[in-house]
Amino acid sequence: MADLKKLEGSGHETDPYICASCGNCTMVCPTFRLLRWESYGPRGRLQITKSILEGNQELDEEYVRKLFLCSLCEHCTQVCTTSLQLDRFWELIREAAWDLNMVPAPVEYACKSIMKYGDPFSMGSSSRMHWAEGLDIDIQDRIEQPAKTAYFIGCNVAMKPRSHKTAQSLIKILEHSGTDYTILGEKEVCCGGPLIWGGNKKHAPAMAERNIWLYRDLGVERIIFSCPSCIQSWPKTYKEAAGVPVQKEFELLTNSQFIDSLNKRKALKFHEQSNITVTYHDPCISARRLNIISEPREVIEKIPGIYNIDMLHSKEDTRCCGAHGLVNLTDPLISSQIAEMRLRDVSVMPASRVITECPRCLQALELATQTMNYSVQVQDISEIVAESLAEKDEEDDR
Ligand code: SF4
Ligand code: SF4
Repeated sequence: MADLKKLEGSGHETDPYICASCGNCTMVCPTFRLLRWESYGPRGRLQITKSILEGNQELDEEYVRKLFLCSLCEHCTQVCTTSLQLDRFWELIREAAWDLNMVPAPVEYACKSIMKYGDPFSMGSSSRMHWAEGLDIDIQDRIEQPAKTAYFIGCNVAMKPRSHKTAQSLIKILEHSGTDYTILGEKEVCCGGPLIWGGNKKHAPAMAERNIWLYRDLGVERIIFSCPSCIQSWPKTYKEAAGVPVQKEFELLTNSQFIDSLNKRKALKFHEQSNITVTYHDPCISARRLNIISEPREVIEKIPGIYNIDMLHSKEDTRCCGAHGLVNLTDPLISSQIAEMRLRDVSVMPASRVITECPRCLQALELATQTMNYSVQVQDISEIVAESLAEKDEEDDR
């Protein structure tokens, strides 16, 4: 099997032969839609993989680069006529590339940084609480306090300045609803997701478990994530490491699921907004992997004066922002051009804001507003909810 031994016994070794060459996957693939070369799309890459398996082609750097220009958005899996789980197939080949020491240098750097510093940016634990700077709520007592609800901030939200507002907004929502919660502070580490996407899957469970053991000690029962990719990678890593699905031990919720649960028990009070039309961008992992479709829409509809109009490509048919799967490290220009394609979907909507619930989508779409010089406000769902919460005296009047 040439250099693709990873495929042996995985159940995926026959995928290139099962493919019916229908092209459904090609038409939805963001990398193909941008570059318009068959070999950059999923069907083309399957054909190249077949050639490698049959010894007719080398597993070379060009092939690996094409693999890492896949955003692991799962759109190909969603539409595959023959029900191939293509995202897992791409991950397996990335594992082969890692074993062969062939992954793109920025990807290798980020993965090694996670193992050394606990985050992909080499910032270290002393930077974990940067997100709280300027927050007008004292959260020191929340750090490592026993509680049933925990808020997992995640590297992108904790360390990328634009996403600090996401975490601050979620804290405001937790406080407003009177939820007793805990955070891990400087002890929180990466969820391990980027290790899986980088092909270094074997080291991912250790990262998830470092967080999970702390949560167990604090008596945590449910965990809120501001990044759906973190929530996706935990069950994946822990289940295979210890044989216990982490989602059976904890309730794992994204921002929109948590806020929706608060609304259902009437724990949030809102003031009236002044007729703002928004469009909701479903993060690929939220919609296609975690099936979180109704919750964000219900959260938006609950705010008086805010209206959501869905884009043509939304829900399970959402289009990738280009920043998942480490594409943004492999080729930042291609990543940002994919984000621009998604922003064009936004630009035909009568919306003054685009709302999402993923820090990568948020940062990619906001960058695209600048590169395209297109004016639309990009917000995490926690931000629009927090800015719509009634002040204390407004609550008392109700
Ligand atoms: S996961 Fe997304 S980017 Fe990757 S091949 Fe499939 S459709 Fe293309
Ligand atoms: S959608 Fe599935 S069957 Fe059709 S070309 Fe893509 S991988 Fe092959």
